[in-house]
Amino acid sequence: MDAGVSESSARRALCHPDGKKSCGACCGMYNHRKSDESALMARLVERTRAFRRDASVEDEASLRAFRVRWEDPPEVKLLGELASCPFLGLLDGLDPTGRVGCLVHPLQNQGVDGRDCGVYDRFICEDYLCAAHAVLKRQEVELVIAAVPDSYLYGLVITNPRLIRTFFDLAATERGAYPTVRELARDEAIAAARGFFELVRDWPYRDTDGIFGAVVPGEGLETSRRPHPAGEQEVKPVDTLLLGLGTRKLSVEELEDARGRVYQAVLSFAAVLG
Ligand code: SF4
Ligand code: SF4
Repeated sequence: MDAGVSESSARRALCHPDGKKSCGACCGMYNHRKSDESALMARLVERTRAFRRDASVEDEASLRAFRVRWEDPPEVKLLGELASCPFLGLLDGLDPTGRVGCLVHPLQNQGVDGRDCGVYDRFICEDYLCAAHAVLKRQEVELVIAAVPDSYLYGLVITNPRLIRTFFDLAATERGAYPTVRELARDEAIAAARGFFELVRDWPYRDTDGIFGAVVPGEGLETSRRPHPAGEQEVKPVDTLLLGLGTRKLSVEELEDARGRVYQAVLSFAAVLG
């Protein structure tokens, strides 16, 4: 959740891996009923512009007023009770392809900390680490960082360890061996992985709440497992990827097409690994 720009801890490498992209998922970046890339990034541009114009970390009253004005009400959020912080914005001017991050972080404001005015407080913001930090292997993280170009996609992928792990596992099954660090560093492998991760950006079979992947938001903070997109049809290993992509229930023809798309991406990745 911490959204500063120069955390030195290796654990923070997932949140702000390089100077081009970052993750804002735990600040609530995707917790909105309109979470397609253009709508979501346009909101961040608008909010960041307003913050620069109307608020200052030196002026607590301005932060509180900004929060009242810009915090999303429960009815526009996917998970109504899950916090969605209005102080998440854009860090590279108003460039929607650049880094997202905390506009009230002390590293953004000459040491002045405005996070206590956000939806948590400075200690929670500082200490929280999502499951990806504990679950993902180093080579998985490095491949995602190398393959994913921008913040919108990065936050969606890095917080979906099961999708990443299944992609690796299926490719390893295809070629008969888990990829080595050296194989994963090759340009061809990075390009093929990007081809798969790009499916996450605008997956045509994504359900209306599919931005949360295999988790379905319910009332308040309740979540449940996404119904299987195959319905009564036979289940296949590649379907785990469909669930991770937030796929809705599909017809026979749609299911064949969806499986074909993701499996082709897996095969392309496995092929360049050698
Ligand atoms: S969701 Fe995870 S990777 Fe993303 S900013 Fe939060 S702790 Fe970091
Ligand atoms: S104050 Fe808000 S935007 Fe900043 S780190 Fe905390 S939750 Fe994220």
